[in-house]
Amino acid sequence: MFCRIVAGEIPATMVRETPTTLAFRDIDPKAPVHVLVIPKEHYADVATLAQGDSALAGEVLATAAAVAEDEGLLGDGFRLMFNTGTYGGQEVFHAHAHLLGGAPLGPMLARSVA
Ligand code: 5GP
Repeated sequence: MFCRIVAGEIPATMVRETPTTLAFRDIDPKAPVHVLVIPKEHYADVATLAQGDSALAGEVLATAAAVAEDEGLLGDGFRLMFNTGTYGGQEVFHAHAHLLGGAPLGPMLARSVA
C-alpha cells in the first residue's frame, strides 16, 4: 500500500522527501501532528528494515527528526513508534514510523497489559 504512495499512485500530503525516505500525513490522525515516515524501499516492518539495511533505518529516524523540527515539536516533545506484527497492532506491512505530537499524548498504552 505505501509502495503505491511511493509510486505516486495514491495521493498523500507530503511533508518531506529525501532520496531514500518519504514523510506524509496520516490519513486518520490521532494527534494534532501525525506523520508517517517510511523508507521508499519496501521492508515489511522495522525489524526487517533494521536487519536488512541499518543505514536506511537510520535515515528514517533522521527524516523523522527533521519533520519533528519542522513541525515545531522539539521543545515540547513527541512520540515516535513503529507498530510491528500482530501484537504490535500493525495494519500496513511497509515499515513506517508514526511521528505524533502537538499535544500531551498521555500514557504510552491506553491500558496496562503487564
Ligand atoms: P499501523 O497500524 O500499520 O502502524 O498504521 C498504519 C497507519 O497508516 C494508520 O495510522 C492509518 O491511518 C494510516 N494509513 C492507512 N492507509 C493510508 C493511506 O492510504 N494514506 C495515509 N496517508 N495513511 C494511511
